[in-house]
Amino acid sequence: MKGMTTSPREARIAVVGAGPAGLACARILRKHGLDVTVYDRDPGPDARNQGGTLDLDTEHGQNALREAGLLDQFFALARPEGQEMRKVGLTGELLGQHLPEPDEMFKPEIDRGLLRNLLLDSLEPGTVRWGKGLASVQDGRRLHFTDGTQEDADLVIGADGAFSRVRAAVSSSAPLYSGISFLEAWFDDVEARHTDLADLVGQGLMASADGSRALFAQRNGGDHIRVYIIQKVELDWISRLGLTIHDTEGIRAHLLGEFAGWGPRMTQMLTDNDGVYVDRPIFALPAPYAWEHSPTLTLIGDAAHVMPPIGVGVNLALHDAHDLALALAGAATVEEALTSYEKIMLERSDEIGASLGRGAEGMLDAD
Ligand SMILES: Cc1cc2nc3c(=O)[nH]c(=O)nc-3n(C[C@H](O)[C@H](O)[C@H](O)COP(=O)(O)OP(=O)(O)OC[C@H]3O[C@@H](n4cnc5c(N)ncnc54)[C@H](O)[C@@H]3O)c2cc1C
Repeated sequence: MKGMTTSPREARIAVVGAGPAGLACARILRKHGLDVTVYDRDPGPDARNQGGTLDLDTEHGQNALREAGLLDQFFALARPEGQEMRKVGLTGELLGQHLPEPDEMFKPEIDRGLLRNLLLDSLEPGTVRWGKGLASVQDGRRLHFTDGTQEDADLVIGADGAFSRVRAAVSSSAPLYSGISFLEAWFDDVEARHTDLADLVGQGLMASADGSRALFAQRNGGDHIRVYIIQKVELDWISRLGLTIHDTEGIRAHLLGEFAGWGPRMTQMLTDNDGVYVDRPIFALPAPYAWEHSPTLTLIGDAAHVMPPIGVGVNLALHDAHDLALALAGAATVEEALTSYEKIMLERSDEIGASLGRGAEGMLDAD
C-alpha cells in the first residue's frame, strides 16, 4: 500500500456503491485516466427495480453529467414535460400549476433506472464488480466483503448510500428516522387503465396536503405513475396495525379511514394501485455533516449527507462526484484532493441541509 503522498495517478481507487454518486465519480475519474473499481452489493445491474424518477438541475446534476461527457445523452432520455407541477385540493380541484416552457431544461426528469444505465454503459466492462457487499473497512484501506473476500485500495470512496458501511469506519453518526413515512403505490398503463388519475396528475408532479397527511403523485416513464402516501407515523406503523406490507386490503382499509375527508378522485390513489405497497420510512443524517478526516477514505452522496427527499439528493450526489473526481484529477496527492473536496462539499451540504427547514414534515403543510 502507498503512503499519504500517493499521487492520484498511481492510486488504486475503490468506489463502494454503484448508485448515481459512485458511477458518476467513476466515469469522470476514468475520463481523466485514473484507476478505479466500483463494488456494489447488488448481484447485477438488473437485480433490483430502480423505481422512481429524479430531476437533474442545471447547477448540480447536469453540470456533473456535462463533465462526464453524458449531457446530450441525458437530454435525449429526459422528460422535460415532467417539470409540470400541480397543487390540488382534497377533492382534486386545481389550486395552482406550473407548465414548463417548450424549451425549459432547468430540471427535466429521468427514470432512475435509465440514469443508472446511462452511467453504467459509459464505463468499461469490468469496472463495476457486482455481488460485493461491503461489511467493513479496515485501516481506511482494506475492504472486507460479506462474501468473505477482501481487497486493498489506496483510496476508498464511500458512495454506498444512506446506511453507508464506509461511513462507519470514520463516524458513529447514523441516519435518524424523521417520523415521516412514504408509502409508495404504483399505477401501470395509466393512459389506458387509470385515465382519471392520469388526467389529474398531468405530465409531472401533483401534490396535495391537509396539514397532517399528503399525496404526491408523479409521472414516470413507461406510462407509470408513482404515488407517495405521506404520513406522520411510527416507524413500525404497519405491524402496529397487526398487518404486513403484503396485506394490501388491510392497509387500504386503514388508509381510507385516515384520508376520510378526501374526495374519491384523491382516494383512488390509495385504493387503485397495481401490486403491493412499498414502505419507505424517511431517514436523515443529523447536521452538521462531518466525520473524522482520513487521508485514504472519503464519502460522497447520501453516504456523506443523507437529507429528506425534497428533490436535492441526487443532485448533491452528482455534484459531490464531480467535485471529488476533478479534485483527484488535478491534485498532486490524494490527501490534498480529499482536503479540498471535503471543505467545499461539507460547506455546501450544511448550507443546503439547513435550507430544507422542517424537512419531510414540511411536505404535510397544506399551503
Ligand atoms: C422515497 C425517496 C424518494 C426520493 N426522491 C428523490 C427525488 O425525487 N429527487 C432526488 O434528488 N432525490 C430523491 N431521493 C434521494 C435520492 O434517492 C438519493 O439522494 C440518491 O439516490 C443518492 O445517491 P447515492 O449514489 O449517494 O446513493 P444510492 O442511490 O443510495 O446508491 C447507493 C449504492 O450503494 C450500494 N450499496 C449500499 N450498501 C452497500 C454495501 N454495504 N456494499 C456495497 N454496495 C452497497 C447500493 O446497492 C446502491 O447501488 C429520494 C429518496 C427516497 C428514500
